[in-house]
Amino acid sequence: MIKKAIGLSCIVLLACGSVWAQEQFVNLYSARHYPTDEALYSNFTKATGIRINRVDADDAGILARLKAEGSASPADVILLVDAARLYKGEVDGLFKPIHSKLLEDAIPAQLRAKSDAQGTAWFGFSTRARVIVYDKAKVKREDVDTYEELADPKNKGKICIRSGSHPYNLSLFGAVTQHLGEQKAESWLKGLVGNLARDPKGGDTDQVKGVGSGECQIAVSNTYYIARLMRSNDAQDKAMMDRLGVVFPNQNSWGTHVNIAGGAVARNSKNPANAVKFLEYLASAPAQNHFADGNNEWPTVRGIKVNNPALQSMSGGDDFKAETIPLSAVAAQQARVQQMLDRVGFK
Ligand code: FE
Repeated sequence: MIKKAIGLSCIVLLACGSVWAQEQFVNLYSARHYPTDEALYSNFTKATGIRINRVDADDAGILARLKAEGSASPADVILLVDAARLYKGEVDGLFKPIHSKLLEDAIPAQLRAKSDAQGTAWFGFSTRARVIVYDKAKVKREDVDTYEELADPKNKGKICIRSGSHPYNLSLFGAVTQHLGEQKAESWLKGLVGNLARDPKGGDTDQVKGVGSGECQIAVSNTYYIARLMRSNDAQDKAMMDRLGVVFPNQNSWGTHVNIAGGAVARNSKNPANAVKFLEYLASAPAQNHFADGNNEWPTVRGIKVNNPALQSMSGGDDFKAETIPLSAVAAQQARVQQMLDRVGFK
């Protein structure tokens, strides 16, 4: 009875290491906001006997909390969405470098932090592309098949996109800066702001629905939001998606911008071995398939086959061409991108 009571309070406090040393556990701070992830966590516990104590918060909240908790932090594993946030955690010294041959072999170099003798700060476990959605009745596909065209005067007054300083956009604009150079990237941003149909508001789904309602004709969105609408049980969502086209931009040049959801080990982890075990589990075939089938993301581990009709129909059935520049370099642009956004008045 007493043991049970302690167990319950441990779940709440995440501070049971010394009380219950014999039980294996890992304390997870997660910013993944996808309901289908429950199965991912319970399968890990089934396979390893390691219990997961989970704290859900948004990315910024997790990073702030780690900073505030300092060396007293109970966190072992950190899951964040977007390379810009993982990079921020790395630069702020919140992660403990990981040494895992399994992860280094499984995950392509451009989808993780730089690996060196110290180890690797973070790994990407799933990818999402940032693509263009358009109203098929009003917009020609060839007018939106590159990111560059989002800034073209021909698309004036047509575009919906979420806040420029949201990490998904900071990363996209960081990639554009890597590809075009700072000067061209800034005039591109200026053109994009000039083409907006309305002031940025809401998340990616709201931009897609903006095209659906006719408020705009072109939107920028991460792929999993689009797949979710395509697979929705709501007849209205389905009907809307039938009227919309999806373009994977820049297939004839540098490729579509791709971002990651990824993981790291907390700097002050008291269970680093279990933390690495959990991250290695995320690279296993069942976990990778979960990302694809459960949350409509692409696996990062080489050789995993995707079986997701929405993802397949969206990308034309085949593998699309994704950009190959390292995400760590893209994420490193975010401070510069924010300055450009301020100068061009992109809220
Ligand atoms: Fe998201």
